[in-house]
Amino acid sequence: MLKCPRCGKEVSSRPGTICPRCGLKVSENNMKIRCPEQNCRAVVSKKLEYCPKCGCKLRGYKLSELVRMARNKIDETFYEDKE
Ligand SMILES: [Zn+2]
Ligand SMILES: [Zn+2]
Repeated sequence: MLKCPRCGKEVSSRPGTICPRCGLKVSENNMKIRCPEQNCRAVVSKKLEYCPKCGCKLRGYKLSELVRMARNKIDETFYEDKE
């Protein structure tokens, strides 16, 4: 059992549990993940975007960021011998 962070009602800690009193998705809100940084490995809330301990990015890159990174890489390779 865990407590609903919004209203304090005790609810099941199973994944996908919704607080019967206020309707908050409790387990999703309390989900913890481990920092991917090798020397850090802090357990942090899944809601956070950056690790509060080491400051690394916790969430995966957005698709647009990946595409941009891939483009930059291609540009670098493509223009390499022109300079
Ligand atoms: Zn609640
Ligand atoms: Zn970290």
